[in-house]
Amino acid sequence: MITAQIQTAAYLFASILFILSLGGLSSQESAKRGVFYGIIGMIIAILSTVLGEGVEGHAYIIAAIAIASVIGIIVARKVEMTSMPQLVAILHSFVGLAAVLVGYGSYLDPATECLVDANETGTHNNAESIIHLVEIFIGVFIGAITFTGSIIAWGKLEGKIRSKPLLYPGRHMVNIILVIVSIILGVLFTMADGTEGLIYLYLMTAIAFFIGVMLVMAIGGADMPVVVSMLNSYSGWAAAAAGFMLSNDLLIVTGALVGSSGAILSIIMCDAMNRSFLSVIFGGFGDAPSGEAKEMEGEVTSITHEEVGELLKEANSVVIVPGYGMAVAKAQYPIHEMVDILKKAGKEVRFGIHPVAGRLPGHMNVLLAEANVPYDIVLEMDEINEDMPKTDVIMVIGANDIVNPGAQEDPSSPIYGMPVIEVWKAKKVIVMKRSMAVGYAGVENPLFYKENTDMLYGDAKVSVDKINTALKA
Ligand code: NDP
Repeated sequence: MITAQIQTAAYLFASILFILSLGGLSSQESAKRGVFYGIIGMIIAILSTVLGEGVEGHAYIIAAIAIASVIGIIVARKVEMTSMPQLVAILHSFVGLAAVLVGYGSYLDPATECLVDANETGTHNNAESIIHLVEIFIGVFIGAITFTGSIIAWGKLEGKIRSKPLLYPGRHMVNIILVIVSIILGVLFTMADGTEGLIYLYLMTAIAFFIGVMLVMAIGGADMPVVVSMLNSYSGWAAAAAGFMLSNDLLIVTGALVGSSGAILSIIMCDAMNRSFLSVIFGGFGDAPSGEAKEMEGEVTSITHEEVGELLKEANSVVIVPGYGMAVAKAQYPIHEMVDILKKAGKEVRFGIHPVAGRLPGHMNVLLAEANVPYDIVLEMDEINEDMPKTDVIMVIGANDIVNPGAQEDPSSPIYGMPVIEVWKAKKVIVMKRSMAVGYAGVENPLFYKENTDMLYGDAKVSVDKINTALKA
C-alpha cells in the first residue's frame, strides 16, 4: 500500500515520462528511447494505481492484468506490420468501451450518490454533484462513439466492411439532430433521479453508438489513415473524461496528451493529403469528385529483371519510392542489399517517402529502419519532389496511389488534390507490382501508361532479389 502523497508523486513522474516518450517518438533516432520511457511510465502508473489507498480485490486485479498482458504479448508478436492499423483501431475501441463502463460504474457506485433521488435529498443541486454527472455523460458519449467508430474502422481496414463511403442525403442533418437530442438528454440526466437518469443514459449511449457507426461508415478507404488517428484522439479524450469521473489526475493528463497529439496528427495528415479536416471527419463534406473518370491514354510496356539491372548500372542517381506492396512482400531486406550494391558502385541512392504510404503513418520508415537502411538517405516527399527531373531511375516498389499523376491532372479522380510523389518527371520509371490492379483508393493509375514508365511484374521481394542477382553478375 502507498499513501496518497506517494501516489501523486508517482503520477507526476509517470506524466513526465509520457511527455518524454512523445518527444522521443518524434524522430527515428530517439524513437526507441521514447518507447522505453512510455513503458516505464505505464508500469509506474499501473503499480501506483493498484497499490493506492481504497483499492480492494488485488487478487482479481493482478489476475486480470496477467491475462491481459499475455494476450497483449501474443497479439503484438503475431501481428504483421501490414495489419498494424487494424490492431490500433481495435485497441482504440477498448479505450472507448472502458470509458463507457467507467461512466456506468461511476453512476451506479453508491459512494458517488448519483443514484439518490434528487428531489428528496437535493444531492443533485450541489454543483459538485452536477459536474460529476456532466463528466459521466460526456465520458460515456465520447467513449461510445469511439467504441463503435473504431470497430467500423477495424472492419474497413480488415476488408470485412466495404471501404466505399456510405453516403445518404441529409446525413449531416441527421447527425446534428442526434447530437442536439443527446444534449437535451444530458440536461434531463442532470436533473433526474437515479433510475430515471439511467434511462437517459441508456438512450444517449444507444444514440452515440449509432453516431460512431455512421460517422466512420461515411468515410472512404483512402481517408482511413486520418480516421485511425482521429479515433486515437477520441480515445484520448474518452480516457481524460474517465480520469475526471474517477478523479484520477494521471488519466486526465495522459488522456489529454493522447487526445491532443492524435488531433494534431490528424490535421498534419489532412494537410499532407490536401484535404480539409472537416471534410474527412464528416465524410466527404461537399467535395465529392464530379464528372466521368478520365480514359487511360498510352500503352503499357514491361521490362525484365536483367534490363532493370542494366538500367541501374548505367544510372547515376536512383530514387526508390516504396509503398504498401513493399510491406506485403517484406522486400525491405533485399532492397537494403540493392542499395548497398548501388552505393558501392558510386551511385547516389535515396528513398522518397510519402506521408501516407502503406497503411499507417510512418509505415515505410519503420520497415526501412527494421532492415537497417540508414536514415540520412530516407527523405520526405517534399524533400525529394524537386529532385525528380534530375533523377535517372525511379524504382516504385509496391506503391500505387501515392505516385498517381491523376491526383494532379484529373479533377474527376477521387484522390484529386492529394499531394503525390512526382515520379513521372524522372528520366525513367520502373513500377514493380504483381499486376495492373488498383491500389487502396481503387483508382486507375495513368503513370503505368506513360512513355517513360516500364512495368516489372511480380512479387516485390522476388523481383528485387532477381535484380540484385543481375547487378552482381
Ligand atoms: P496502394 O495500396 O495504393 O498500392 C499498393 C500496391 O502494391 C497495389 O497496387 C498492389 O498491386 C501492390 N502490391 C501488393 N502486394 C504486392 C507484392 N507482394 N509485391 C509487389 N506489389 C504488391 O499503396 P500506396 O502505399 O501507394 O498508397 C497507400 C494508400 O493507402 C493510399 O491510398 C492511402 O491513403 C491509403 N492508406 C494509408 C494509410 C496510412 O496511414 N499510410 C492507412 C490506410 C490507408 P498488385 O496487386 O498489382 O501487386
